[in-house]
Amino acid sequence: MTANVKQITRLLKPLRLLLLGPPGSGKGTQTSRLLKQIPQLSSLSSGDILRQEIKSESKFGREAATYIAQGKLLPDDLITQLITFRLSTMGWLRPPATWLLDGFPRTTAQASALDGVLKQHNADLNLVVELDVPESAILERIENRYVHVPSGRVYNLQYNPPKVPGLDDITGEPLTKRLDDTVEVFKKRIEEYKKTNEPLKEYYKKSGLLSTVSGESSDIIFPKLLNLITSKFGH
Ligand code: AMP
Repeated sequence: MTANVKQITRLLKPLRLLLLGPPGSGKGTQTSRLLKQIPQLSSLSSGDILRQEIKSESKFGREAATYIAQGKLLPDDLITQLITFRLSTMGWLRPPATWLLDGFPRTTAQASALDGVLKQHNADLNLVVELDVPESAILERIENRYVHVPSGRVYNLQYNPPKVPGLDDITGEPLTKRLDDTVEVFKKRIEEYKKTNEPLKEYYKKSGLLSTVSGESSDIIFPKLLNLITSKFGH
């Protein structure tokens, strides 16, 4: 009998990927799946970092919470400083680091500030993928979504429930509902997304980096996303 070896993907050159997509399009889920599949990959989610800051009740967290609770974006300079500082301390500005960003940049001002920093280190983004999910699928996901704040792991009560209700599979710590996953705040977040996403997509289209993968569910999107990455960066 042959051993059931889990297939992994090896990249032949560094990947510096940005995932775009509306709130609830499954960026967190796709990230977790890519991390399992591609051992070289690390990820950073701006939303996860902000939720950790809020949980630790830092000064920054208190300021961020006022925007997040209303579904508003943080000011560009504030979030850009936070994220570029993290990129630097995590060693991501030193090629051949291979990484994925989720949730940052969200505006063209953030995108051009990030490009400026990355260019100085010869570590430009080399792929931007938009997750294209029908809006009808999204609201339902938001209502059923629970998160483990310290790790950013995302659960869905319907199609990806935790093994023990209310607890993270790995640590056994409690899961929480995001304070912005309510119908009212969600509407505002989608509005903000629509306002900023078109110019952002245009920005990355011009630089030739933008690809789109479409699908109703994470299971449909994931193989398409992985194929896209392997066709450009791996084998
Ligand atoms: P997310 O987890 O990516 O949906 O982010 C949750 C919330 O954090 C957003 O609704 C914003 O209020 C804030 N946020 C996250 N990333 C950014 C960003 N790049 N620019 C401004 N605000 C952000």
